[in-house]
Amino acid sequence: MTATAAEPVTAPFRFFGLTVVRTQRLSPSLVRVVFGGEALRGFASGGRDQSCSLFLPHPGQAEPVLPPETAPDWFAAYRALPDDVRAVMRSYTVRGQRRADDGTTEVDIDFALHEDGGPACRWAQQASPGDRVVVLGPALEDNTAVRFRPPEDTDWVLMWADETALPAAAAALEWLPAGTKAKVWIEVQHPGDRLELTTAADAEITWLVRDEGAPSAVDAVRAVPAAELPEGTPYAWIAGESSCVRALRRHLVQERRFDRRRVTFVGYWRRGLSEEQLRERAGTESQDEDA
Ligand SMILES: Cc1cc2nc3c(=O)[nH]c(=O)nc-3n(C[C@H](O)[C@H](O)[C@H](O)COP(=O)(O)OP(=O)(O)OC[C@H]3O[C@@H](n4cnc5c(N)ncnc54)[C@H](O)[C@@H]3O)c2cc1C
Repeated sequence: MTATAAEPVTAPFRFFGLTVVRTQRLSPSLVRVVFGGEALRGFASGGRDQSCSLFLPHPGQAEPVLPPETAPDWFAAYRALPDDVRAVMRSYTVRGQRRADDGTTEVDIDFALHEDGGPACRWAQQASPGDRVVVLGPALEDNTAVRFRPPEDTDWVLMWADETALPAAAAALEWLPAGTKAKVWIEVQHPGDRLELTTAADAEITWLVRDEGAPSAVDAVRAVPAAELPEGTPYAWIAGESSCVRALRRHLVQERRFDRRRVTFVGYWRRGLSEEQLRERAGTESQDEDA
């Protein structure tokens, strides 16, 4: 369809400037940063596991350093900036968006704090009102950075998340239609990381707490194989540490005989690799191991 002047084309993603409004410690491992600001007008989260790319300043910088938005090959221009100058780019989930009547909006992003804390983790720990970042985020609610998409004929949903994917799992649970049967496993470090989750779904949520002796991230995949699963056509969504995600996906497809098209799996981080290193390797590795 050709757009007319009355139907302007909106790109699904664009840059938005965000200003920290407040922060809230949700649990021992999670801090929520609430962003606002005039430049957030037009931000349109699709909910569920809506992800975005955050650009963060280095310590000592007042704001993230980025090429002009109009640069012809924006990513190449970004990569050409010196490592210690160009903004740190990290993937995060839009945990929630609230729109006020005057068109202003607030966006919540929940950061998992981890021992080997990288730049994003450190930034979140020290974030305070007035701090500025940039996000490449959704301008249309229907966008490809929403991956949680159960097909219409789904009878029940299986979810597995670690703390980095807890914000996405929480938002997906809020979105699930009332009565949807769901079996959910969430792995966290501390007993205090068990957040209260809101859902109208018929969800059975199992918390795997590493401090309470739950299997370590490397073999956390015992819980799902040991479980009795409901009858009917499933949809699975698995997100978190890459090796766990891959192992679980393999189990579901090879042993439980899930249709691989009904398994959404996303490696959110990989032990020992920063997000830049992970992105560099992604091009050379196939996720589709059992294809
Ligand atoms: C689509 C998507 C959505 C995401 N949403 C969220 C979200 O909402 N909240 C969130 O907290 N994270 C989220 N993540 C994960 C987040 O991007 C990574 O954890 C990221 O590596 C954190 O950046 P960093 O600068 O703190 O650490 P990096 O510099 O990237 O890594 C430094 C070191 O820390 C390790 N590391 C990274 N994360 C963890 C961790 N959680 N536990 C232990 N070690 C770790 C790395 O392996 C590396 O050794 C998401 C990732 C993706 C792909």
